Amino acid sequence: AKSAGRHRFSVFTPELNRVAQDRLKFEMALRAALQADQLQLHYQPQVRLSDGGIYGVEALARWHHPEFGVVPPDRFVPLAEECGFITELDHGILQKACRQLSEWRAANIVIPHVSVNVSPTTFCDRRLPALIAKTLAACGLLPRDLVLEVTENVVLDNASGGLATLKRVHELGVGLSIDDFGTGYSSLSYLHRLPVDELKLDKSFVRELESDEGARALASAVTGIGTSLRLTIVAEGVENDEQRRILQAQGCQVAQGYFFARPMPAAALTAWMQSRARE
Ligand code: C2E
Ligand code: CA
Ligand code: CA
Ligand code: CA
Repeated sequence: AKSAGRHRFSVFTPELNRVAQDRLKFEMALRAALQADQLQLHYQPQVRLSDGGIYGVEALARWHHPEFGVVPPDRFVPLAEECGFITELDHGILQKACRQLSEWRAANIVIPHVSVNVSPTTFCDRRLPALIAKTLAACGLLPRDLVLEVTENVVLDNASGGLATLKRVHELGVGLSIDDFGTGYSSLSYLHRLPVDELKLDKSFVRELESDEGARALASAVTGIGTSLRLTIVAEGVENDEQRRILQAQGCQVAQGYFFARPMPAAALTAWMQSRARE
């Protein structure tokens, strides 16, 4: 038993070292990418179900690394959180997204707003409202041109300061959306007291719409409550026409997903908008 223990020890130590080294390498690369402005944004259209018109676009971060390839945000966002530079990252993305929207406006591409994902840490940071005001002014945008997507846990946790930011951002006139709705604490009782404009129905429910009665009932309940509170319901992860049809029948107003378009670079979205205008 003793020798087995020693054996295990000698196997795991270099392995752990390698994991730690990989992580450090990854962290240093992300810091460098941030500094060198190598994070890019892809944009995914959000489509009105009533007439197929564009409701807005969501900005989604991408990191193209020469060695690692395209690193998805699900990997580098948590890392940036852990290493303490998520606020810097989110601020950079917010500014980039606003600049892009003002470029589209200048080119007469009609996109009603851009939605930006904001991490809990960034959202609870006192500097956020001032940064938003400054960025909008610098880009010649109005508050209603911007929507912030936050997860419900942020606004439910009273101690975090998220509620205070929520109110200040709402006073500015910026739109607020609850992301991944239904996957967090799932308490509906707080909704009517929050200055929120939009609910994003999580893609885990949308995925099962055709196959699962429970998912259908849940989606329908979210849409019903949201609509009666005058919130816009945006379904995410819509991949086929059957899902679109069910959502529309349930009263959902807006949908986003591969069925309509994948997230794409700004130039591709411009082309997508122009080709639709010609149809
Ligand atoms: P999210 O905000 O819930 O974004 C939706 C995710 O679903 C995106 O993944 C999007 O590309 C993907 N998606 C869109 N349509 C479909 C579809 O039809 N089917 C499926 N299966 N997926 C679809 P992505 O871009 O990998 O982003 C993952 C998460 O990373 C986001 O989830 C968001 O929480 C976070 N994230 C992305 N960009 C940022 C950012 O700039 N800042 C912060 N803080 N978080 C970000
Ligand atoms: Ca989102
Ligand atoms: Ca989501
Ligand atoms: Ca998410």
